[in-house]
Amino acid sequence: MEQNRAVMVRIGELWLKSEPVKKQFMLALTRNIKAALDTQEIPYMLEEYRGRLLIFGDAARIAPVVARIFGIVDVSICETTTNRPEDMAKTALTFSEKKLKSGMRFAVRARRQHVSGFTSQQLAGMIADAIWEKIPDFVVDLDDPEYEIFVEAREYGGIVYDERIPGQGGLPLGTAGRAVALLSAGIDSPVAAWLMMRRGVVISGVFMDGGRWAGSATRDLAMDNVRILSTWCPGRGLPLWIVNLEPFFDAMMTACDRHYTCLFCKRFMMRVAEEVAKENKMEGIVSGENLGQVASQTLQNMGVITESVKLPVLRPLLTYDKEEIVAISRRIGTYHESPGDTGCLAVPKKPATRSAQDLIDTEENKLEMNELVRQAVESAELWIAKDGEIFQKILTERTIDSSV
Ligand code: ATP
Ligand code: MG
Repeated sequence: MEQNRAVMVRIGELWLKSEPVKKQFMLALTRNIKAALDTQEIPYMLEEYRGRLLIFGDAARIAPVVARIFGIVDVSICETTTNRPEDMAKTALTFSEKKLKSGMRFAVRARRQHVSGFTSQQLAGMIADAIWEKIPDFVVDLDDPEYEIFVEAREYGGIVYDERIPGQGGLPLGTAGRAVALLSAGIDSPVAAWLMMRRGVVISGVFMDGGRWAGSATRDLAMDNVRILSTWCPGRGLPLWIVNLEPFFDAMMTACDRHYTCLFCKRFMMRVAEEVAKENKMEGIVSGENLGQVASQTLQNMGVITESVKLPVLRPLLTYDKEEIVAISRRIGTYHESPGDTGCLAVPKKPATRSAQDLIDTEENKLEMNELVRQAVESAELWIAKDGEIFQKILTERTIDSSV
């Protein structure tokens, strides 16, 4: 373990919180970081100073793992020194020698906290002077530098680094409640689930298997999406309920007005998701719906879909453009280049973009709705994805304990 090498973790919004909340969030964050490093079997030593986290160990391996943990703005591979300017300057020089050339636009960013004897500006000046002696003729440019070096003098020592690796932002997973996500084979819903996870919500998935009504690739794709999502919550199981939707489709396609099948289907999915959520004490339902993307996603239809349940329906993609969703999907790993057969045979040629609640009620009353929901929930298979692998859980009961 290189003693002076550390990964410094920068946290963002946590500073907006009150002291007790901040403490609780830091606890969740450090727990998640430890789980990620333990899962990868990377040795480390984690130290917390006044809300700054320093992780000592093989920094090149630690940094990319930690940069995936929610609640982190960015990470830097840094060298720790004493907080004496000459020591910090010596280390700053070893960094600069690798990247700074004469003539380059250069900036020193210096900070100082609870250390007396010099100001930040003086510290920056001392660092720049020391570097100038070895690499002369750089051009100081604080607005648009080609190379930057960061030095921080803290009461516990000095920190020097020259790179900031962007993190995911958001809040530590586990600090914003639990929700069930309607997860399909598509692009949108895994992104929606990921965005909620990034905001601190612990997610479980429900996939509705349409059987012969749905494309043959859907089940495998949905499971793969969940498997990939599980890599974003290392060390923590991500449950997936797979529900048989065929009996509902059969009943709906026989009895109901086919203009509205997408709405009936979505309302049914919501009801099943709500049952699963209630049984497992979860507080919301996440969907990948997006305003105006398809017929069932008009504002009016989304209202009708929401009406089918009492739990809050969370639609983090509501305002995103498709390009933005695809970009996130590629970045988080859930984008499938050639997904295969994902069509749905129940989609009408002309799906309704508007729907009257009383008409929907009349049509749905033709179905044994409570019974269909009950059957669907009882048909659920429970799978657990963990660290990029997926396991079937042998079910004796449908509920999970809150530790997974
Ligand atoms: P996606 O790409 O996520 O499938 P979409 O734009 O294709 O979304 P729809 O097919 O209308 O839109 O689905 C809207 C939302 O309903 C999905 O984002 C997802 O949350 C949920 N959903 C759709 N199909 C399923 C399914 N088979 N199982 C579980 N949830 C589903
Ligand atoms: Mg879809």
